[in-house]
Amino acid sequence: MNREEFLVEIKKLNIELTKKMEEQLKQYADFLLEYNKHTNLTAIKTEEEVFLKHFYDSLTLVKLADLKQGTLLDVGTGAGFPGLVLAIVFPNLKITLLDSNNKKITFLEECISKFQLQNVHTIYSRAEDFTRVHREEFDFVTSRAVADLRILLELNIPALKVNGKFLVMKGNSDEEIQNSLKTMEILHCKIYKKEKFELPNLGGTRTLLSIIKEKETEKKYPRTYDKIKKKELKCYYLQPKVEEITKICE
Ligand code: SAM
Repeated sequence: MNREEFLVEIKKLNIELTKKMEEQLKQYADFLLEYNKHTNLTAIKTEEEVFLKHFYDSLTLVKLADLKQGTLLDVGTGAGFPGLVLAIVFPNLKITLLDSNNKKITFLEECISKFQLQNVHTIYSRAEDFTRVHREEFDFVTSRAVADLRILLELNIPALKVNGKFLVMKGNSDEEIQNSLKTMEILHCKIYKKEKFELPNLGGTRTLLSIIKEKETEKKYPRTYDKIKKKELKCYYLQPKVEEITKICE
């Protein structure tokens, strides 16, 4: 997707960019591709792929929610997807970019300073350490390409305010979603909205979910990552039925 196609496609999402935002996104693409030559940030190597698979894909979250204001935590943001793209396009949305990889945090800090963004800051931390302490704080939490949905739910839901939304970005993942329903119940949340569509230019299938939190999360969640992961693997290998997941996740 070249830049012109990108502008046409995001108009269909009702997003209009100012000239300044267009320039910031162009600088972001250039800086990412340049930086990626010496520091591994992304497998994507061309500007066209950056505009489709990073920028356009990040902005499809507007299909789920009005992101013009509020607070958003992007867990496992990597080189800033979707969080830094949202920070550029929605200057009144207050964004926290979290990652446990310091090289990525350094890159993001350089971007924030280069593009003079006032509405975004970074946190160098493991998700579970952060959300164990920062509870019921955010209107939105999101994560792209970080872990299985059952793991993400336990990592992310504690950070959401009651009635806040976890904006999930997945591929063709009906089975993964089905396998997460019991975990949602345990964490007092449920699917509020689902959008399944094809990215332009044969970019692949996308499934977006908005998961609403209905009650405060019990203090025992999130558990340590080892525990979440170990039980998650057990779930995965046994391919449990929904009743079995109850036992495993408690
Ligand atoms: N979200 C970005 C994207 O879609 O391009 C990055 C995806 S990358 C495959 C996964 C990122 O999640 C990595 O940067 C990794 O450091 C981070 N990550 C994985 N587990 C994490 C955890 N428990 N806490 C914080 N960051 C984590």
